[in-house]
Amino acid sequence: MSIFSKIKMLKPENGMFYPPNVEGGVKVKFEFPPNIDNICAAFQINPQTVFTYGDTIYDPHKLPLSVDVIEHERVHMKQQGEKPELWWGKYLREPAFRIDQEAQAYGRQYQVIAQKITNPQKLFDFRMMLAKTLSGPLYGNAIGRSEALTLIQSYAQEPV
Ligand SMILES: [Zn+2]
Repeated sequence: MSIFSKIKMLKPENGMFYPPNVEGGVKVKFEFPPNIDNICAAFQINPQTVFTYGDTIYDPHKLPLSVDVIEHERVHMKQQGEKPELWWGKYLREPAFRIDQEAQAYGRQYQVIAQKITNPQKLFDFRMMLAKTLSGPLYGNAIGRSEALTLIQSYAQEPV
């Protein structure tokens, strides 16, 4: 689960896009995921939120998916494997599990951003933006911002 990326150079119009529903791309459905009621009961989701359930990204508001967001969601696909319902159950119930899974996804997202953006100040700003999101209401305010930053950075060091 993540939010629409504001990073221009990673946007579809700049060619940074995996076309949905083709080989090598990802499956995208322009609808809510099957467990949307459970998600809404747990978090304050906003209209810029996209979701992964199993091997599919659910993009109910038809937001253009940039490459960093797709890579974030791919991490969740791997985490969920063949049992998305079990993963989601634990994710919604257990804040520590949720934050760890999200930190992995944000770490990967940050790796993608860091390949494209070389300006250190801009990169720092994006890191802070990701940490702000991870520590915010979308994931139940389950972690402090500096702790979120440290976690994202530690996962961003890991090989793909
Ligand atoms: Zn996520």
